[in-house]
Amino acid sequence: MKIFLNGKLVSKEQATVSVFDHGYLYGDGVFEGIRSYNCLVFKLKEHVDRLYESAHSIMLDISMTKKEMIEAIVKTLKANNLKDAYLRVVVSRGVGDLGLDPRKCKGQQTVVIIADRINLYPKELYEQGMAIITVPTVRNLPEALNPQIKSLNYLNNILAKIEAMNSGCQEALMLDHLGYVAECTGDNIFVVKKGQLYTPPQCLGSLRGITRDAVIELAAKIKIASHEHVLTRHEVFISDECFLTGTAAEIIPVVKVDGRLIGNGKPGPISKKIMAKFKQITKVQGVKYTIK
Ligand SMILES: *Cc1c(COP(=O)(O)O)cnc(C)c1O
Repeated sequence: MKIFLNGKLVSKEQATVSVFDHGYLYGDGVFEGIRSYNCLVFKLKEHVDRLYESAHSIMLDISMTKKEMIEAIVKTLKANNLKDAYLRVVVSRGVGDLGLDPRKCKGQQTVVIIADRINLYPKELYEQGMAIITVPTVRNLPEALNPQIKSLNYLNNILAKIEAMNSGCQEALMLDHLGYVAECTGDNIFVVKKGQLYTPPQCLGSLRGITRDAVIELAAKIKIASHEHVLTRHEVFISDECFLTGTAAEIIPVVKVDGRLIGNGKPGPISKKIMAKFKQITKVQGVKYTIK
């Protein structure tokens, strides 16, 4: 395995970061998860744009241009000879002292790109659907740490995940500070009602997922209307279908929420249609690269 570390491709053993890196000390940094399918990087520009937007928001000036970042991502994929991959791009503030002051991180930021394979959940879960549970930990307030920033500070989501697992579920439904449905720990949520899609507006405490936007786009192509709509748990409980979207999880059906069956308790026809269409577009859309 070759890992991109500050401009160089190094082995897994050599890919180490200082304990003084503020990414390690404070979660001070930003990241992206990206997938490639069949030698096509899916929504590469969108991911790189969001990475730079997250960085801009936390006043982290990435030392590489977007073009260089894209080249580094492709180079890492090629070096690992991966046709289908999950990539993690991490940019942290870099090495500083034990204080918070980011100005003390005088050297460059630490840029890491890892290309690997992951299956987030077993195949059966995609066929049978998963059960999720609403957790007490609410999503970060947009006024505090805006969920639009894909930051390394992931404790909010991890606490929610722990609560879900403590209750025997693999995924948590997180509400925003007003009590409306926000998202899951690393995935956006959709519900289906009377043949149409509903997902929470992104400004209310969820990350604007690239998979989410891809689903809205592909749904339009197959004449399924989507709406950004404030959702309460009630709307989720009475929905006909429900599914989650994210780069790592892709599209996964949800069949039970807080003990309530969704629809007939099996992944529904619209979810299946969207999943199939998604699979199809990922195989043909994206930035092409070649491997040996
Ligand atoms: C990354 C992420 C998502 C999913 O976004 P994609 O762009 O679809 O991968 C959703 N929620 C959170 C909190 C995330 O970090």
